[in-house]
Parts: sequence; C-alpha cells; structure tokens
Amino acid sequence: MTLRSILIHPDPRLKKVCDPVPDLSDELRTLADDMLQTMYDAPGIGLAAPQVGVTRRLIVLDCVRDGEGEPRPLVMFNPEVIAESEESSVYEEGCLSIPEQYAEVERPAEVTVRWMDRNGMEQQEDFDGLWATCVQHEIDHLDGVLFIDYLKPLRRQMITRKMQKLKREMARG
Ligand SMILES: [Zn+2]
Repeated sequence: MTLRSILIHPDPRLKKVCDPVPDLSDELRTLADDMLQTMYDAPGIGLAAPQVGVTRRLIVLDCVRDGEGEPRPLVMFNPEVIAESEESSVYEEGCLSIPEQYAEVERPAEVTVRWMDRNGMEQQEDFDGLWATCVQHEIDHLDGVLFIDYLKPLRRQMITRKMQKLKREMARG
C-alpha cells in the first residue's frame, strides 16, 4: 500500500463534483486501500478520493476511537444519503485538507446511507453520532463541498487565507 499525498485547500480539485464509479476495478480497490492507509497515517477518521486528487465518488472512514474497540474500516463507492433525521446535532469538525482548523457544524443527527462496498455489494446502514457527521462530511467532498462552506463568509475567508499561507510555506519547504 502506498501513502497518497493529501491536497490542501484551496485547490480546484476539492471543488469539483466527482464522477460516479460504474464498475469496480483493481485500480479502484488499490486506491481505496491506499486511502485507508493514508487516513490512518494522518491520522484522521475519514478521507474522500478528491482529497488525494482523484475526482471519483469514493470515501473511506473509520470512527472507532483508539482504545474503544476493533478498527472498522469502511470503503464506500457511490455513497448516497437516502434518509436523514429531522433532529440535528452539532460537532466540531476538522478536515485533513484544512489542517488544524476546527469549527462547529450542524447536520442531521442520523442518516441512512447506501453504497457499494469493496466487493461490489450494495450496502445500507443507519449512522448516528460521530459516524453520521463523518459520513456526511465525506460525502460532501464528492460534491465539492467543504465544512468551511457552512461557516459565515468572514470565518471561511480567514481560514482560506491561513491555508494559502500554509501552502506558500510548504512550497518553500
Ligand atoms: Zn474533509
């Protein structure tokens, strides 16, 4: 498995609507495995394909916290929220493409998600708590939406400027 480099906002590839995956291939399975590896290494609890520069509808996640049980890596091709609760919840979110910036985002507290798994099988599951927040955050990425898009413009611009500065520093090495 190979670690992929994670794009940092702002980047046009993070703003694209990603293409559905019609059929699985070894290449896509390898990408999913690499993404899981990259996510655990970061460390993070979710990663979407556009964050590694691939504009396909693929996300990976694992919201089991260290010491709270066995890891539960999920690979979702073409994930879709098919139902959501009226009740909402607020979590402080972060993003591997927006390092060290966190903000509270309100989303539906429970969602039902349908997806195709690593073996090409259709899956459906209800998520709540951190899992619900995380899966919605990652699916947003597939539509070019970042968590900072839910913030007030001023806050969003401030974070974007910080990221531009970070990228300039990284480019200089
Ligand atoms: Zn993210």
